[in-house]
Amino acid sequence: MLDDVELDFKNQYLLCCPECGNMWAHHGAVTVYTRDGEDGKVTKTRVNPDGTVQQNVGKTSNPSSRRDGIAIQFYCEMGCIPREITIEQHKGLCSLAWRPLTDNPSGTMMQAERKPC
Ligand SMILES: [Zn+2]
Repeated sequence: MLDDVELDFKNQYLLCCPECGNMWAHHGAVTVYTRDGEDGKVTKTRVNPDGTVQQNVGKTSNPSSRRDGIAIQFYCEMGCIPREITIEQHKGLCSLAWRPLTDNPSGTMMQAERKPC
């Protein structure tokens, strides 16, 4: 791990762990939830850290109750609980939020991701 003072990010925001505030966060699987229209059937497309793509497996867990959404898994190097950052489309607005990891049926993916770089 680098010393925090060695890093200089101009015109960028660092994503920090919502539990401990540490900036050493890593992303994992990215899941995109799309609908064919408002309140339509959800198609879930997940890109795993190894590059494989899955569709419509596991729970839906769309962050948006009526439209599209995105969920990106994150884990903290300090061992905090893995979470997802979500982008929710709702009535023409986009919101950004953290939520507990909702779709990790086997638990194996996050274990593999928690290995140090
Ligand atoms: Zn943390």
